[in-house]
Amino acid sequence: MRISVITNWAYGVTVVLTVLSGTAFILSATSATRERIAVEEHLTLSEMAEDLALGSEERTDEARLYVMRGDVRHLESFRGRESEERLREGAIKGVRQLGATPVEVDALNEVETNADVLDRIEAAAVAAYRNGDQAGARETLFGPEHDRIQTALLGAVTRFRELTNARTQAAMQNAQVRSDWWGFVAKTLLSLTAALFLGVLYFVLKRRVAMPLIRMTGIVSRLAKQDYAVDVPLDTRRDEIGEMNEAIHIFRENGLERDRLDAERRRDQQTKDLILQMMHRLQACQAQQELAEVVALFAPQIFPELAGNLYIMNESRSTLSRISSWLDPQRSEPVFPATACWGLRRGRPHVSSHEHGDISCQHLDHADMAGLCVPLTAQGDAIGLLYFEERPEGHMAAEASRLYLELIAENIGLAAANLQLRDKLTNLSIRDALTGLHNRRSLDEDLNNHVRDSASRPLACMMIDIDHFKRFNDEFGHDAGDEVMRYVAQIISDTIGDAGRAYRFGGEEFTALMPDLGDVEGLALAERVRENIRSTPLSHRGRILGAVSVSIGVASSFDRGAATTLLIRADAALLDAKAHGRNMTVLASALLADNQKRVTA
Ligand code: GH3
Ligand code: MG
Ligand code: MG
Repeated sequence: MRISVITNWAYGVTVVLTVLSGTAFILSATSATRERIAVEEHLTLSEMAEDLALGSEERTDEARLYVMRGDVRHLESFRGRESEERLREGAIKGVRQLGATPVEVDALNEVETNADVLDRIEAAAVAAYRNGDQAGARETLFGPEHDRIQTALLGAVTRFRELTNARTQAAMQNAQVRSDWWGFVAKTLLSLTAALFLGVLYFVLKRRVAMPLIRMTGIVSRLAKQDYAVDVPLDTRRDEIGEMNEAIHIFRENGLERDRLDAERRRDQQTKDLILQMMHRLQACQAQQELAEVVALFAPQIFPELAGNLYIMNESRSTLSRISSWLDPQRSEPVFPATACWGLRRGRPHVSSHEHGDISCQHLDHADMAGLCVPLTAQGDAIGLLYFEERPEGHMAAEASRLYLELIAENIGLAAANLQLRDKLTNLSIRDALTGLHNRRSLDEDLNNHVRDSASRPLACMMIDIDHFKRFNDEFGHDAGDEVMRYVAQIISDTIGDAGRAYRFGGEEFTALMPDLGDVEGLALAERVRENIRSTPLSHRGRILGAVSVSIGVASSFDRGAATTLLIRADAALLDAKAHGRNMTVLASALLADNQKRVTA
């Protein structure tokens, strides 16, 4: 309710109460007047009764004195009193007009009757006295009859006074009670008016104005300091204070909304910064494993509510393998066929979720969590898959984040494609196309690196040449020769394994470098290579090619020479092996010694 309405109501009620209390005061005053009238009436009636009794007694006394003394003055006095009789009659008439009760009127009538009888008796006695009957006159005036009537008259007067006394007393009491009652009512109403006035004043000023204003001042000063956590109680009053409260509410809501938008903008900017950082690092990746690490590091920072996997397609474009993972995704297989993913099949992002009402990819289990597959493409070719999964406390990315997901996927796809292309080019430049071994250029590079970076470390070298290779070409054709070359290359590579690296030196010659191996270990390994090649019969397109043998020269960086002369020394040992019958291994260090060491098969 509005304050103005409250004050108007209070004003109206105060006016009504004031009018009522005024009326009660008037009624109280009227009752007091009635009380006064009753008192006056009482006095008048008392006086009147007194006069009646006194008048009658005085007349009797004058009559008696006259008959006793015969003095004419008493006779005149007695007669003079006759006028009083008329006064008495007037008084009795007045009493009746004053509203005397029938009982009072009866008493008054009795007084009148007795007074009349007494008047007649006394008048007769006076007349008898004047006629000379003095004894008879005295007898009449002092006789028992006169006494009786006089006594009756006085009794009637007394009764009349008692009656009027009782009535006027009752009237006075009644008037006093009414006066007191209306006085009480008037005072009560006046007190009520005063209490109402003070109450409204208190309510309006303190409860409805002062207290809310003090509370709102505190709230406004906190809001001014941008402390939007302050609680603004809902005030549903439809008054000025209520409107102020509503305005503060709106102010706080606006502040909160502005804060929320600011936070959202900051979060968005942070996400963009992270995406940018990730893109820069993706561009600088040298290997697929680095790319996997970069994605696993940045993806959970950009989308903290999503777990995920990064898959890369194999060369034959048939299978996807997981190369990195973050925040422990549960649903997707580590390896699966490309056809198991609806995202890859359709070439666009696909949400697998019962909740979204879409079909689930086959590489996912049937858990409730939604999964999102974003294909990684480069120049129209699918090269991998970015998989996201909502975490138990998270939820699938909103539309805005979906754009970021696609942007990230596009960049990862391009970066992965670049790395693959780069790997291909590198392979082309450092590998031999026929055997897949590293080429001569790569050999020179590795040797230079060793000399530059770890010249003090031992390094063993093998120079391998296929014996009578020309014959394979001549007898079985160039293809068969190529086949022999690939076979020999494979055995060299397998036998050396992690101990070193094999190269195609040129033609049908191969080289192997084995870091940390000396003469003895190098010779033993070379012998294993030679024996493995020798012990496997070869065939090509159903034709037996026969056994292949190789001659090997072995040198090491510490056998009296530096690493730079390693190839020369190993080649010299190889030549020596050729010269001494082929299918053998010669140790370069043994060449110059008197007791040359040859191992023959
Ligand atoms: P030796 O035991 O003395 O080494 O006799 P050899 O026949 O193996 O040696 P030679 O140098 O006389 O012949 C090497 C042959 O290898 C000559 C060349 O035609 C053949 N050759 C070189 N490169 C290739 C190749 O890439 N493919 C094939 N099929 N043959 C090749
Ligand atoms: Mg040869
Ligand atoms: Mg040769």
